[in-house]
This record gives sequence, C-alpha cells and structure tokens, in this order.
Amino acid sequence: MKLGVVLRAERLIRGEGIQRTRLVTPYGPVDRIFSGDVHGTETHFLYGRFPGQRTPSWEIPYEANQSAFDALGVDHIIGTFVVGGVDKEVRGGDLIIPHDLVSLAGPRASLPPLSGRFSNAHVIPSFCPVLRRLLIRGAEEAGIRVHQSGVYFSFYGFARIETLAELELMERLGARLVGQTMDPEFTLARQRHRHYAAIAVAIDSYHDMKNETETDPEVFRARSRQAIADGRRQFEEIIEAGLATRGADGPEDCACAQVAKGRHRDMFASFPEDLL
Ligand SMILES: [Zn+2]
Repeated sequence: MKLGVVLRAERLIRGEGIQRTRLVTPYGPVDRIFSGDVHGTETHFLYGRFPGQRTPSWEIPYEANQSAFDALGVDHIIGTFVVGGVDKEVRGGDLIIPHDLVSLAGPRASLPPLSGRFSNAHVIPSFCPVLRRLLIRGAEEAGIRVHQSGVYFSFYGFARIETLAELELMERLGARLVGQTMDPEFTLARQRHRHYAAIAVAIDSYHDMKNETETDPEVFRARSRQAIADGRRQFEEIIEAGLATRGADGPEDCACAQVAKGRHRDMFASFPEDLL
C-alpha cells in the first residue's frame, strides 16, 4: 500500500524522516506534499486540496492533485472532509466514516487514461472496505467516537451553502452528511483504480441550525473553527493508530481491487460506445 492522505496533518508531517515533496504536474505545481514512512506504510500527505488561498470548490486543482499521486505511485487514498451534518444522528463536532456517496451533478474534470483507452470508473463498492476498516479500527484504538457509516451528499458548483429545502431533501434521500469537495476527487481517484475512503468532521448540524436562528454568527464561527481544529487532530490520531495496527487487517484483498482486474471491468464502459 502506498497511501495518499489529503489532510493538513500538522503533527504527522513533523515526524522523523518526513520530507516535503514538490512536484510539477501537467496540470500545475503541487508543492505541499509531505512524504515518509508512518508505522511501516509509505505515506504522502497532501497538505490541503487548496494551493494556499481558499478558493471556490470548482477551482480546487483536482487533476493536479491526482496527477501528483500518479507520479508518487499512490494506490490508496484517504480523503478528509469538513462537512455539514444532515441526519438527526449527527451533531456539530461529530466524526463520520461514510460508506457511500451521492453525486448527482459535478464538474467536468477528467484525466487522460493511463492505458490509452477511456473507460468509466467502476465504483461498486465506492469506498475501500480495507481502508474503511483501517479508519474504524484506528478510531477504536484511539478512543475516538465516530459514526461508522453514512451517505455523503455532494453539493457542488455553487458559492453558497445549502438552502433549508435542499437539506430537507437530502435528509429525505437518506444522506447523513453534505459537502462540496469529495467529487471529482473520488471519481478521478477511482479512474486511476485507486482504493479510496473518507473521514469527515461535521461543523454544524441541519437539525441544530433549524433551532438556532438567534445564535450570534460569531459564536457559530468560533464553534466551527474549533470543530475543524479538533477534527483534524482526531483525523491524525485515527490514521496513525490505524496504520500502527495495520497487521490486524489480514489480507488486503478487497472488492475494489477485484473490480479493477475483474473480467467485467469494461462492461459498463463499453455499452455507450458500442450501442449509441
Ligand atoms: Zn480497496
């Protein structure tokens, strides 16, 4: 496993033997990668999706980030996310390890196929069971409470958060969390046959927001900042504990690896080309 982790891992990147890597990809420079060994696993921390200044989600250099992972030979990715809680179980500050995602619309972002022929990515299962086990076990080892499942709803392409009607719709559709940044990262990674899993921290909750119209925005902002800081620290603890006990996982064969090699890998991709 060569692991890529999208996280501002303030503590782990200061570990012994971790080196900063600067890459120039066909899509631009990616100069905030920190690489080294974490408990026996070659790990590359991408220090945030944004190259410095915060930008709208559609300006995140997703292709450059994945192209950098290409150059590093990364085959497994853990994405970390700041999200909103949608269902009643999730409160501000909660951590969630989603088991699936919904992306009903998204950006036009793609990478040229490595094999010369385009095919749609296979995404069943969407998230890697081995990486999910690593995260769940890491949370248990670190004594950090997480929601071990949930559907992430991608809300993408608007410079605003969701309306109450949109949140209500997402809840009715069974989503547990909502965010703006998982896709196209997920899709591009799966086009490269990478194993992918995610962990998220909720900075707020739809159900709390509904009852807090009087709350001072400064109070809300301070609480969100604290949730993000706490979440990032906990992500580091969970990932480190998961990697430290990786031997407990057993064989790393998983369904997502089989999909990439399986007999039917081109089945879905070939239909549109051959029939339309
Ligand atoms: Zn997998």
